[in-house]
Amino acid sequence: MTLDLDWDYERTARRRERFLSPSLRTFTAFDAPLLLRKGKGAHVWDADGRRYLDCLAQNLCISVGYDHPGVNAAVAEQMRSIQHVTTMYYHPGPAQFAEELVATMPPGHDWVVHLVNSGAEAIDLAVLVARLFTGHFEMLTLRNSYHGMHFGTMAASGLALCHQPLAGAPGYVHVHNPDLYRGAYGDRVDGYVDDLRRVIDSSTPGAVAGMIVEPIQGYGGVIPVPDGYQRRVAQIVRDAGGLYISDEVQTGFGRTGSHFWAFEADGVVPDAIVVSKGIGNGFPLAALIVRRDVAEAMAARKFFNTYGSNPMACAAGRAVLRAIADEDLQGNAGRVGELFGEALERGARRCEAVGQVRGRGLMRGIEFVADRASRAPDDAAAARVQEALRERGVIVGRSGQYKNVLRINPPLCVSADDAAQFADALDGALAHA
Ligand code: PMP
Repeated sequence: MTLDLDWDYERTARRRERFLSPSLRTFTAFDAPLLLRKGKGAHVWDADGRRYLDCLAQNLCISVGYDHPGVNAAVAEQMRSIQHVTTMYYHPGPAQFAEELVATMPPGHDWVVHLVNSGAEAIDLAVLVARLFTGHFEMLTLRNSYHGMHFGTMAASGLALCHQPLAGAPGYVHVHNPDLYRGAYGDRVDGYVDDLRRVIDSSTPGAVAGMIVEPIQGYGGVIPVPDGYQRRVAQIVRDAGGLYISDEVQTGFGRTGSHFWAFEADGVVPDAIVVSKGIGNGFPLAALIVRRDVAEAMAARKFFNTYGSNPMACAAGRAVLRAIADEDLQGNAGRVGELFGEALERGARRCEAVGQVRGRGLMRGIEFVADRASRAPDDAAAARVQEALRERGVIVGRSGQYKNVLRINPPLCVSADDAAQFADALDGALAHA
């Protein structure tokens, strides 16, 4: 190995501060971030050799597990033959991968795949095709949503942390998100649906290019949209001339346990979906899966993105799909996800600082409040529990508009024993809430 890596904690911190962009300072996990050296399955090791159960999975990128032999072998084999083939040439990898992705989509529709490198890139592309196909401009997204931090996606995102103090990309309108715990219309789903109609009537020309929805808001604090919401808003948006787009960046690839894609649970068929993160098990890879007739709207003009068909990334993607099928990882997400859910429910019964637990499969959240009556967010309690879990060898994320929600999203290969370790750790950590 000739990587020549310096594993000293202080020197790494100093180099990062000196040579990497200052904006990295705005997003670190823990008071003293971990220096991670290796991963295996659902676990990571720090530079001192301490092992952690990773219930954040690099923000849900590690889907089938660290150091997965199938993914490793596929990427290594591809790397040895040719590392990159741009879209100007033919290579079977991207074409076969696209065929396999299309097979995961609802039958009876003509889907095509556009491969890109990141979630934000795929969202931007979705907005572009929606505008070209419909001839309308306005895009609707939900408050509290996260769709990325590029120029367009920053405006699409409905979380304050995504907004810079300057004029954003035009044509994005935010709608009240159906958060039944702390949303504007409380637990009245009709209120949120009605808000969408009112926004279209008041803040758009009456017609829209589309709407993007995360079936479970991830960075927003693990907030599932209520049953039936997607079906109802898809209809309203289509009546206004727009497309319904599901952002499956966090919820896809079997993570919710019951379905491969989270939109399926609501019986809605979107016009396009955006996928990333778990698609490559850590490889930079994302895609827009979209109706062919919609995608044709972009074919009148040239489009090119350099890494939109990298064969190593596609080899990783194909190996991920194979692993999910061969190892029944969606089933595992459902079964082990229940165990995580039970541990969180037990914690909520014992600990007054827990306002609500939410989620499905291996996408779970636990929200901390100063008291249950006022529901005042308690980010300090969430931070203390997060640190206490780390001391007990468990990594979780912290997010939500008020940073008071812990996110539990381990790799899909996490085991029942891991869930038991999580339950024990949570038991002790909640005493610090
Ligand atoms: N959509 C969702 C739901 C996401 O969680 C993210 C990233 N966390 C994105 C889009 C943007 O992805 P990326 O960071 O790869 O640009």
